[in-house]
Order: sequence, then C-alpha cells, then structure tokens
Amino acid sequence: MSESNTVTDADVVLVGAGIMSMTLATFLKELQPHLKIEILERLPGEAQESSGPWNNAGTGHAANCELNYTPQNADGSVDISKALEVNVEFDLSRQFWSYLIKKGAIASPDSFIHPVPHMSFVIGADRAAFLKKRHATMSAHHCYRGMEYSEDHKQIAEWAPLIMEGRDPNQVVAATRMVTGADVNYGALTTNLLNYLRRQDGFSIQFQQQVTGLNRRSDGGWSIDVKDEKSGTRKSIGARYVFLGAGGAALTLLQKSGIPEADGFAGFPVSGIWLRCGKHEVAERHAAKVYGMAAEGSPPMSVPHLDTRIIDGKRWILFGPYAGFSTKFLKKGSLFDLPLSIRPDNLLPLLAVARDNFSLEEYLVGQVVQTKSHRFKALREFYPNLNEDDWEFDVAGQRVQIIRKDQARTGKLVFGTDIVHSADSTIVALLGASPGASTAAWIMVHMLENCFHEQLVGHWVPKLKEMIPSYGHDLKTDAALTERIRKETAEVLGLHTA
Ligand SMILES: Cc1cc2nc3c(=O)[nH]c(=O)nc-3n(C[C@H](O)[C@H](O)[C@H](O)COP(=O)(O)OP(=O)(O)OC[C@H]3O[C@@H](n4cnc5c(N)ncnc54)[C@H](O)[C@@H]3O)c2cc1C
Repeated sequence: MSESNTVTDADVVLVGAGIMSMTLATFLKELQPHLKIEILERLPGEAQESSGPWNNAGTGHAANCELNYTPQNADGSVDISKALEVNVEFDLSRQFWSYLIKKGAIASPDSFIHPVPHMSFVIGADRAAFLKKRHATMSAHHCYRGMEYSEDHKQIAEWAPLIMEGRDPNQVVAATRMVTGADVNYGALTTNLLNYLRRQDGFSIQFQQQVTGLNRRSDGGWSIDVKDEKSGTRKSIGARYVFLGAGGAALTLLQKSGIPEADGFAGFPVSGIWLRCGKHEVAERHAAKVYGMAAEGSPPMSVPHLDTRIIDGKRWILFGPYAGFSTKFLKKGSLFDLPLSIRPDNLLPLLAVARDNFSLEEYLVGQVVQTKSHRFKALREFYPNLNEDDWEFDVAGQRVQIIRKDQARTGKLVFGTDIVHSADSTIVALLGASPGASTAAWIMVHMLENCFHEQLVGHWVPKLKEMIPSYGHDLKTDAALTERIRKETAEVLGLHTA
C-alpha cells in the first residue's frame, strides 16, 4: 500500500489491545502526555485473547509457589536466583498499579486484584525433602520473609481444606505458603487502563482493525496496513514508532516488518484447557493458589495448579492447565499461523528444537490424547473428594514460546519474554509469554531502558521514580526498601503483608 493512502499519523501505534499494549500506552502517556497514541485491535473489544480472565490463570507471579523457578543443583542445594528476579519484577507492577490507584486513574483495587495466598504442594518423601530445602533457602532471604512450611496434614488442611480432605493420612505431603500472594484479573486491569487512557487527549483505539502489513517509510517511520474486519476496506496508518503487543501474533507481524533483527525467530504454540468450578459451597472453601510439581518433560507453564479466582465479584476454582498443541498463534487465530511463520531463516532453529525437545513433544502428545477421566484423575491428586458434576471444561489462551537462533545448537526453545527491536528502536515486538502479565510493568520499564535510553537520561527518570519509587534500586539487595515498598503497596492494593 502506498504512503499516499495514509489516513492518520500517530506518534506511536500499538498493535493489540491486551495488557501489554495498555501498560505501555499508560507509561508513555504518563511520561510524555502530548504523545499521539493509537491502538489497533483485530477483535471487537480489549483483552479478548491471553489477557482475558479465563484465558490465563490470574496469578500475580512473584515466584512464591512456582517450583519451576527454583531448580535443584547437582549438589542438592536449591537455586533461587531466577525466583528472586521474578519476585522483584512483580514489585514493579505493584508500585505502578498503586501509583495509578492513588492518582485516581483506577477507581478501586478490588476491581482487579485480591489477596490470595500462594502455596506449593508436593506428595512423596523426595519432593517433601526438596520443598523443605527450598523453603530454608527462600525464607532466609528478605524477599521471602514470612514463607511458611509444613508437613502436618492438619496444618495444611487449615490452609487449604479441599486438598487434604479424603487424603490417605499416611501419605507424605508438604506445603509452603506465602500470605502475600495475589489473584489478578488482567482483563479487568486492561479495561481499567483503557478507560483511563480514553479520558486523555491524543489517545484513540480502533477495534476490528487487523494489521496486515508494516512498511518502512523514507522518513524512518512506519506505514501500517490495516484491514477493517467489518467492511473489508483497507487503509494505511502512519506512525513514528510501532509496538507489536499482538500476543502470539507478534511474531507474524515482526516477520512482516522485514527488520533483520527478526531473523531466526520462530514460535512454538502451546494451547491449554482448564477445569473450573463456580459452585458457591465448593469455591468458598478454597482460598489459595496451590501449585504442584511439573510432570517429566512438561513445559514449565503447564505445572498443574488449583487456584482461587475472583472474576466479576464471583469466586471460582480453576484447575490446570492441561497443555495441548495447536498450530494457532492466537486462540481466535488461524491454523495456518505456524506453517506460514516458517521461513528459510528459522527453519534450522525449528528443526533443532524439534530434535532436542523430544520429552516435551512426548508430553504434549500425551496431553492431547488425554480423556476426561485422565483429566479428573489429575485434579483428584489435588482435590481427592471432588464431584465431577461440579466442574466444567474451558479453553485457555494460546501461548507461543520463542524459538531463537542459537550459535552452538542452531535453535533454542525459550520459556521467557524477548523484546526484539529494530536498530533505531522505531519498531519493538514483545515475544513470549512468561512470567507474563504479572511483570508487564517491569517489561515496559526494561523496554524503555533498552530502546529509549536518551529520553530516560533526559526528563523521564524523575517521573519514572514517581510512578515506581524503587526505580534504580535493587530490591533483591535492599531489605529495608523492599519492606517499605511492600507495606505501602499492600495497603493501596488491599493485599496482605508477611
Ligand atoms: C494458559 C495461560 C495462563 C497464563 N497464566 C498467567 C498467570 O497466571 N499470570 C500471568 O501473569 N500471566 C499469565 N499468562 C500470560 C499472560 O496471559 C500474557 O503474558 C499476557 O496476557 C499477554 O498480553 P498481551 O497484551 O501481550 O497479549 P494478548 O492479551 O494476547 O493481546 C494481544 C492482542 O493483539 C491482538 N492482535 C493480534 N494480532 C493482531 C493484528 N494483526 N492486528 C490487530 N490486533 C492484533 C489480539 O487480538 C489480542 O487482543 C498466561 C497465559 C496463558 C495462555
């Protein structure tokens, strides 16, 4: 499409109306209120893909309970370095959300966040020994002050009665608990942020607008090809900067941009299914997010967990996710997403990942062929006395894990987040999905530091410090600041302190 068809010109166009674009747009408007920002979304509303409340687990990931963040070293010790990173990344989100609540941008915390303790729960002597060691290492660090541990059936039953009722009293079990945990409705948070953005000049959002192409302009900006999903008409929108917050489809769009930095990236989609229970008498008796241990070969995000969810004021219990495989990059995407993303530059990395991850493929095939009774069997390990009639199946959001070119092995599967940008930072894409929405604020700060260093050095730092008081400090090493920040944000967000 030629530049002459350009109908509007924005400073920044963000593709996708999920939590990531909304978080970035909010940051940018706070830092530079006069920016003209436009969001383009292919679906009729915001947060209808991964950020929707039923498409993710709503855990405020602070690495309290997710055992995949604390691997055991060969000498038996437990490595908590990754957990600490994720733990303090969540502190940035807590501060950012608190700032927005205090300034009246978000009306009330309970529209999107609720205190829900985070627990790890394991069965068997070996796993209990691991959890005990993990607890000893973590609770000695100020970031995990207050973490509780128990092997006592009675104590664990007090924390989470459903997981203990009907269990063999001789079974060896162990659990940890952090009362500081949170359940977050990222869909409601996305809507809150959008409502705030809509109240500001220079912001607009267009729904049912599918971005189909991205072309470099001669002035260094971008011309974005857009198809109106209702009328089928096409237009082009100009932008100085583009952010691809298109969830799983960010890879597709990054490839369309033609920037050399996109070379070698591929995507590995993993789908998911939940079991959920909204029966009042059952849901009211569970007040925790209880994470188990991953099965052999399973991807880290498929660790089973029995979660309290609070969505639109109603309590639910969610279990899963049962992983699966689909070639779609979005839940409402196309089966051609994966095949169409395969190109000469990412074929070798893809093949290398297929060769090196046999146990993952075996796991996914196993999950896909699971019957209803297999799935209830997995739930029964967490909730022995369950009544199958109380539960319904629901399809979770789609995750696209990153495959990255790797010098030594030609291709590597990455269970994290990657920010890919052009050399001049005029286009930035967010790939991957873990730890996810919880760390959206940290991701955006990290992105601003990497791509907009000059502006940060200029006048953005004082404003960033106002929004995130710990900005520039390492909470992993500053116990006093951590305690102060957590106390303050807990008060604003209605969370518990340790
Ligand atoms: C099963 C599952 C469980 C999860 N659990 C958690 C959890 O417990 N805690 C946590 O923090 N995170 C969790 N996550 C991750 C979290 O949901 C994501 O990291 C987050 O929602 C991603 O937000 P996003 O804005 O990047 O993407 P999305 O919310 O997927 O939004 C992308 C948007 O882009 C739009 N789009 C795509 N292509 C185009 C195009 N060409 N033109 C216009 N619009 C386009 C889509 O329609 C969509 O609305 C989970 C994810 C899944 C799938």
